[in-house]
Amino acid sequence: MSNLQLNCHCGANKFSFPVTIPLDKTYTDLHLCLCSDCRLQNGTFVGSFVKAPSAPFDPESPPDSLTIYSSSDIGARYFCSTCSTQLFFQYADLESTNSENKRFWLCTGGLELPNGGKFGIESIGFVKSTPDGGLASWSPGEEICTTFEGKLTDEEIHALEATAMSQFNPLDTFEGRCQCSNIKLKVSRQTGKPQELPPHAWSDNTDLVIPCWTPKEDQPPIDEKNPWWIRDPQEPGMGKRFLGGLCACKSCRLIAGTEIQSWVFIPTICIEVILPGGETTAWPTKEQLLNDEKFKSLIGTYKSTTGDPGVLRGFCKTCGANLFWDGLTRKNFVDISAGLFTGRGIREEAWIEWWTERVSFVEDADGRHDYGKLLEKGLKEWKGRLGGKV
Ligand SMILES: [Zn+2]
Ligand SMILES: [Zn+2]
Ligand SMILES: [Zn+2]
Ligand SMILES: [Zn+2]
Repeated sequence: MSNLQLNCHCGANKFSFPVTIPLDKTYTDLHLCLCSDCRLQNGTFVGSFVKAPSAPFDPESPPDSLTIYSSSDIGARYFCSTCSTQLFFQYADLESTNSENKRFWLCTGGLELPNGGKFGIESIGFVKSTPDGGLASWSPGEEICTTFEGKLTDEEIHALEATAMSQFNPLDTFEGRCQCSNIKLKVSRQTGKPQELPPHAWSDNTDLVIPCWTPKEDQPPIDEKNPWWIRDPQEPGMGKRFLGGLCACKSCRLIAGTEIQSWVFIPTICIEVILPGGETTAWPTKEQLLNDEKFKSLIGTYKSTTGDPGVLRGFCKTCGANLFWDGLTRKNFVDISAGLFTGRGIREEAWIEWWTERVSFVEDADGRHDYGKLLEKGLKEWKGRLGGKV
């Protein structure tokens, strides 16, 4: 016997599940889910699950350290009330409440396999709910691109992409929300105004573009007139874009409860928040997030005491959606979770240039799974398929 260990980022939640060795594939092969509930509730492009070997607790009396959110009449999600790590999905199906695991599934971001075990991929589900193919477009290999209803071929996924791409979004803003809709975002394009540029807006280089292991002398300074976060239009005349990218770092994985996080890098001048009740307000400063009741009652904030010094992450207090990442050296600049955006597709290429050269901190996934490396290959293939116009 050994244990599957499921921990949240802050350590307030720790669960052990006894399992026999060698491990059954049930616990090592990931079910990746692209459904809108997973995307809007964890803020990434994908939910990642394995079936729980046993119930983590009596569903009638869950621990106080967890917040429970019913994302639909299908089931409930459990996340850490302190750090927002997504931990469990539980099907509501009453007929199965007598089964051993009480219909619990484990969110794999915080899951460790015994003896250095490695995850494989069982399936990618609900691809058609993206509706542009979502992360499946970047996940090469027909064998893993399946829906729960049956296999979806690469050609069928490419057809979804083409349909979404043909529906040009003529609007001046694009919108996002968390699953419960308490937090809604309205983002406007960058136009080169001073508030989008250094010194008003500032972010150091991102590991996505300049890997953190790059020697200091090889790291380019930020171009103050044309910083890395302002990207060319997809087509001439369509307007500047933001940069987006995938991250496989350990803290993103733990917080979102899934293997891959997806970020968009945005000067805060471009973001407005629509509060419940309809009031539209500027993106809150760090001080407002920590002290202003208007935001504090809606947005939970989490500062890790181990690693990530100065990093502030935020989440919806009601549904747990992972909202943003803000670093110590940042000024008027924030990473927003890309899974929150809803439009003609979910990748919104008219608004976001997706970085195809690297998955940020892909090295963190080494030995855990091959999905980060697979996505790096898939991103390049996607760019090639579209003739470089991504
Ligand atoms: Zn926690
Ligand atoms: Zn899902
Ligand atoms: Zn919410
Ligand atoms: Zn990360």
